[in-house]
Amino acid sequence: MRRFLIAGNWKMHKTVQETEAFAADLLPRLSAGSASRPDILICPGFPLLAAAHKAFSGSAVSWGAQNCHAEAGGAYTGEVSVEMLKSLDCTYVIIGHSERRAMFAETNQSCAAKIKAAMSGGLKPIYCVGETLEERRGNLTNDVLQRQIVEGLDGVEPGVDGVLTIAYEPVWAIGTGLAATSEMAEEAHAFIRAQLRDKHGEKTAEAVRILYGGSMKPGNAADLLKRPNVDGGLIGGASLEAESFAAIISHAEALAEH
Ligand code: PEP
Repeated sequence: MRRFLIAGNWKMHKTVQETEAFAADLLPRLSAGSASRPDILICPGFPLLAAAHKAFSGSAVSWGAQNCHAEAGGAYTGEVSVEMLKSLDCTYVIIGHSERRAMFAETNQSCAAKIKAAMSGGLKPIYCVGETLEERRGNLTNDVLQRQIVEGLDGVEPGVDGVLTIAYEPVWAIGTGLAATSEMAEEAHAFIRAQLRDKHGEKTAEAVRILYGGSMKPGNAADLLKRPNVDGGLIGGASLEAESFAAIISHAEALAEH
């Protein structure tokens, strides 16, 4: 049984003060601890991680990063290592978001190196995959997903303890308000899980959480989350407001109780 993970990707939004205000708004909205409460994660920009650490310590909310470097350290101006993130008590790191693939030349190969660095340094990677609109229209979705999984997990041992999370984020759905239908999401998630099963076996395939990302909102979250292979959400826009993020968390909690 996989616990839902509801993760916010703040991208390049918010300041330290806004991070503090968000935490003060979000935390009272969360239910008292229960077995059905999802894992909750916020991934702010690097300069906000210390504020997130302070604001969320001791609460139900974890914090993580939106990227990391594959090397342990060295002359990499502007980059951030896994060890630096661990020193801020980050638990997760997003790897290979489509914006990083499109704008910062991330490849499946660079993602594989980062995933290995994250895992060996004690961070849980959330590896993003997904097709563009052209690829979907060209019936290439499964080919793209397969390549992203095979190449992006090359040399990665995901194990059976759920350290690796995959986020299926169709590029055409990110920030557009046009989410995938729950049927489309389930089909892609089931395909990704089948790839994991083929390569790593049943136990690993069942342990890996597969999140849906792309215009998830309070209004469509329940429909997406009720699908058997959808194990949570990676949420951009709707994670910026405590009210909408908390509403998605509530949907996950209600579904977990069923
Ligand atoms: C994202 O940034 O990963 C994302 C899914 O954004 P949005 O929810 O705004 O589409």
